[in-house]
Amino acid sequence: MLAANEAAALVLERTPVLGGEEVSLADAAGRVAAEDLVAPRGLPAFPASAVDGYAIRSADGGGRLRVAGESAAGRPFTGALVPGSAARILTGGILPEGADTVVMVEEVEQLGDHVVVPERFGAGRNFHPSGSDLAAGDVVVRGGRPLGAAELGLAAALGVDRLRVHRRPRVALMSTGDELVEVGRTPGPGQITDSNRWALLAALREVGAEVRLLGIAPDRPEPLRELVTGALEASDVLVTSGGVSVGTHDLVKPLLESLGEVHIGRVKLKPGKPFTFATVGDGKLAFGLPGFPVSSLVTFEVFVRPALRKMQGHDRPQRPQLPVRLDYDALATGDRTEYQRVILRREGNELVAMTTGSQSSSRLMSLLGAQALVRIPPGGEGYPAGTVVEALILELP
Ligand code: AMP
Ligand code: MG
Repeated sequence: MLAANEAAALVLERTPVLGGEEVSLADAAGRVAAEDLVAPRGLPAFPASAVDGYAIRSADGGGRLRVAGESAAGRPFTGALVPGSAARILTGGILPEGADTVVMVEEVEQLGDHVVVPERFGAGRNFHPSGSDLAAGDVVVRGGRPLGAAELGLAAALGVDRLRVHRRPRVALMSTGDELVEVGRTPGPGQITDSNRWALLAALREVGAEVRLLGIAPDRPEPLRELVTGALEASDVLVTSGGVSVGTHDLVKPLLESLGEVHIGRVKLKPGKPFTFATVGDGKLAFGLPGFPVSSLVTFEVFVRPALRKMQGHDRPQRPQLPVRLDYDALATGDRTEYQRVILRREGNELVAMTTGSQSSSRLMSLLGAQALVRIPPGGEGYPAGTVVEALILELP
């Protein structure tokens, strides 16, 4: 049985990075850049006024200057500014040739078609020199970085209307178990509603996967095999929940063994010991998540989410990790690392972790509002309140 961190490393090692495709800016938000975005030109492209005022030659400071014309955004002043003259300039207007500074309208005295400007007014004020934000040839966005508002705004400002991004992973998602019924149907005796599929669908979408929902597979080898082989043909990744324990109806592991190579069949992790990971064919991944709702979501966090981010080319597949101080006594589990669900609060410079209550692997309420998963190493007496431990941060308080 592998340690949790060894298993996580093994999954990432076996995870391929998907190829790239070109998309328009309208479809690029949330995708990951597949190559560096290099500025084809500088920004700003011309010296642009930052204020409304008068463009002058700084050597004319203190003078009474003739207003020779206007430079508005998109409507430049024509010709060059001669000594002893000023051009009215509006925010975004191009600095006329010959001018080297801009005086704000509040700082001049306006006398008909003349203005009096302050004495000893310095050059280079109140405008953005061309190329002062970035120069042609600068790397604006590195490959591997997610494309957000600033990245896409810069691409557009630079005239780049299509970007190379990594393909999204196509993920087939199914629940397994004879006890499961579709949400909306009334469960009979001993039946339960399939909730994992909807929880995992949300988690998969959040991480950028294209999900195909495959419904509920029964605990019978033949229909399960048919569903799984069909799913793997059309997808990069298969995610199942249930059917990976050691019961006689747990058919996912033997099935994956017959289709590909099972690299992980059990992990020293709580919740999530039965987590199963296989590769099939060239580079397809199959994740057999445990059936208990918390186990399926915690193993998703620890193993599946980083893999799907790596597939999309993210340079940081992992959640951020920070030390947190426990405000409760955490029991350790014999030989397994435990990921306990906590709510965070700030105390001075520290993050303090409060438990979400009973950590039973069937109690989905332990994940509701959870802001971090604290990692409790195995063995020993446990960790009394006040101990500082590492946590995967889901959301900062
Ligand atoms: P299994 O891993 O198949 O032994 O499932 C363990 C337990 O997880 C089952 O007894 C169910 O209570 C629960 N479970 C399995 N699949 C689901 C599901 N899709 N939605 C909600 N609970 C499930
Ligand atoms: Mg089952």
